[in-house]
Amino acid sequence: MHYFDFNATTPLSPAAEAAWRQASSEHWHNPSSPYRAAARVRNLLEACREKMASLLRCEAENLVFTSGATEGNNSVINYFAAKAEPRAEMLLSPVEHPCVLESARAAFAGRMEFLPVNGEGVVEVSKLPALLKSRSVVLVSVMAANNETGVLQPWTEVQEVCRQHGVPFHCDASQWLGKLPARSLGECDFLTGSAHKFGGPKGTGFVKISETHNDFTSLRGGSQEAGRRSGTENYPAIAAMAAALEDTISKIETAQSVQGSLRDAFENGLAGALPEVRFIGREAPRLWNTTSILLPAGKNTRWVLQLDKLGFAVSTGSACATGKDSPSHVLAALGLSPEQINRVVRVSAGWETSEASWEALMDGFRQVWQNLKTPSTHSGETHVISI
Ligand code: PLP
Repeated sequence: MHYFDFNATTPLSPAAEAAWRQASSEHWHNPSSPYRAAARVRNLLEACREKMASLLRCEAENLVFTSGATEGNNSVINYFAAKAEPRAEMLLSPVEHPCVLESARAAFAGRMEFLPVNGEGVVEVSKLPALLKSRSVVLVSVMAANNETGVLQPWTEVQEVCRQHGVPFHCDASQWLGKLPARSLGECDFLTGSAHKFGGPKGTGFVKISETHNDFTSLRGGSQEAGRRSGTENYPAIAAMAAALEDTISKIETAQSVQGSLRDAFENGLAGALPEVRFIGREAPRLWNTTSILLPAGKNTRWVLQLDKLGFAVSTGSACATGKDSPSHVLAALGLSPEQINRVVRVSAGWETSEASWEALMDGFRQVWQNLKTPSTHSGETHVISI
């Protein structure tokens, strides 16, 4: 199978698997237990925190391990909502992942305001200062890279404006980390990430908190993670996450140039092979691995099904949206109609996807397009049947 759904999840990288195996067989003790074998695990866990902190360029003591980005995003939003004055609001982009949107909606009871985005889905930072001046905002949340389109957000600028106005900034970097250099992401007041997006295990992630919010607590009970997130730490998964992040970071430069060129060639080829095909977010800076394709006809679910039968794993949008009736809120925010949204397929490659795989995928799209066309019985013309 040719796997083109890396934004949904990635296979465990060999580096992560080796780290996980060793940790599981040798260092499986509870890090909070009182004997020496457990103390070793405690030390190794802290070494992972140091390693992650140096890769993210932040202080190790501000890193809290979690079960992934859904937990991290929920816990940051819940923390601010619990402290907020009754009128205080949260400001966020309309293209955030549902785990940000839905938890904001629930925790702030509708007291949320959206930062406008342009036609490519990029937030309009120029509107941010006025919004921060005119409203009582306690948290701004803007993701680093979008999971559906790959479009990058100007988070450095958002970070700067928030700092000037003294408003905490949270960035969900789940799709950025491991695909692009971390740069100053570690300086965001709150930063969340997820291991399975960069070759680590599922159910593992982190929140980087701001030192000025030292009272941050998500799960209570066992006082692990300096009291910030109770629950026995999953040391093997954390070791695998640190190994995976280090490994993918070392591959970014090559992947960005090789995969970026292969993705661009694929888009150009597809534009030549299919009429009226459009690529969402193409005019904006994007992740090198993602293309969001507005197809000329046919429901995306049928394209995905037919491509699957030909041996290709692609997706209709975000993996979370699969099976949901409502059309993608991300594409809707970009101005696509529900009918257009139902024609969008997401392709997301990995760090080492081969040229042959990209070429095979191109043939796959051509073949499905041929299948969707049928000669008209009465006019001899070719038209697309409804699928
Ligand atoms: N944020 C973004 C941008 C994502 O793409 C995802 C995963 O789909 C998540 C958050 C949720 O991550 P997790 O699967 O670790 O809960």
